[in-house]
Amino acid sequence: MSFSLIEKHGDHEEVVFLSNKEVGLKAIIAIHNTTLGPALGGTRMWNYANEEDALIDVLRLSKGMTYKAAAAGLNLGGGKAVIIGDPKKDKSEALFRAFGAFVNSLNGMYITAEDVGTTVKDMEYIFMETPFVTGIPKAFGGSGDPSPYTAHGVLMGIKASVKHKLKAESLAGVRVAVQGLGNVGSNLVDYLVAEKAEVMVSDIDKDKVKSISEKYGLKTYDPETVVTAECDVFAPCALGAVINDKTLPQLKCKIVAGGANNQLAESRHGEALRELGILYAPDFVINAGGLMNVFVELEGYSSERAIDKTTQVYDNIMEVFRISESENVTSELAAMKLAEKRIGGIGRLRAHHQGRMSRPFSTLKEMTRRQK
Ligand code: NAD
Repeated sequence: MSFSLIEKHGDHEEVVFLSNKEVGLKAIIAIHNTTLGPALGGTRMWNYANEEDALIDVLRLSKGMTYKAAAAGLNLGGGKAVIIGDPKKDKSEALFRAFGAFVNSLNGMYITAEDVGTTVKDMEYIFMETPFVTGIPKAFGGSGDPSPYTAHGVLMGIKASVKHKLKAESLAGVRVAVQGLGNVGSNLVDYLVAEKAEVMVSDIDKDKVKSISEKYGLKTYDPETVVTAECDVFAPCALGAVINDKTLPQLKCKIVAGGANNQLAESRHGEALRELGILYAPDFVINAGGLMNVFVELEGYSSERAIDKTTQVYDNIMEVFRISESENVTSELAAMKLAEKRIGGIGRLRAHHQGRMSRPFSTLKEMTRRQK
């Protein structure tokens, strides 16, 4: 059963099942593609209904990471891990250290990080067993909270979208509706206000809306009505699947560009946006700032370099729009083509040099050094 599922859900290089009865560990690591570098992706801890759901999730998420890293221009491959269990009840130091030992046994082919259900503390336990972990505390040479860097990348993506669609060089006076004022959304609002954009905000948490709107004197929207906001840019920074059959006819924006993952309920909604003349900045390209930030961690962390790196999102989004127009495809498909082209090109180069290209894995030396 598992083998047929693996074959059905993509062309993964390696899928590893981990089990340690003593500490109650049941986990799966999926390495989708390492053409560009070691497979990096977080560890999700979730109370999956069954093992099949966990496997499908890790296969899907690891493939997504391959595309994200490739489109971001990073020398990283795609991977992901899932731990089957309740993050509220089933965590222990021993469990994460056992998991860390398994990660270590892959010799750097897979590098882990935080994800839904795991925390910096869990990464600290993993770090006791392996250097192949990112998102560890700053005190250990880690990069800390990625959200400000994700938000900076989103700002760059909004700027590129505004330039492309509205032919405007600056965000001054551009109306942006931000949905979700969590870690990414609140940092994005700070950036947008500094750019003199006309910002509107919404969150299901009334306290967040109150404190941020009062701080800057911003217009607010109910969570139900924010998709209907008359604006230039709708910036989803909360949930996935926000662009769906119900919301599409209500949109009054010219651009959808925000930090949330999986904004399109289905790929066909990207096509629908295009038909409506609404420009869409693909989520996995515009929200890659957090991944860029951990990549900088692999090379020895500096916050300035991380911010510098995230400005690259501007060019990446511009390139996606260029491909979308020249090949007459949706921006989401264009982003996938951009990623595939890079993997294909470097893959051929790598095959030609028969493994003599060592650059992508040079980061591993850094990591080994850091742990000593
Ligand atoms: P978060 O949990 O800190 O913030 C999400 C916010 O959205 C919360 O304030 C929540 O109250 C609000 N919200 C939930 N439902 C809402 C609704 N219907 N309307 C309005 N607001 C609503 O999460 P985050 O870290 O800010 O991440 C936001 C999104 O960005 C997620 O989709 C996440 O997967 C994605 N993302 C985050 C990062 C990162 O660095 N944190 C990186 C890449 C992608």
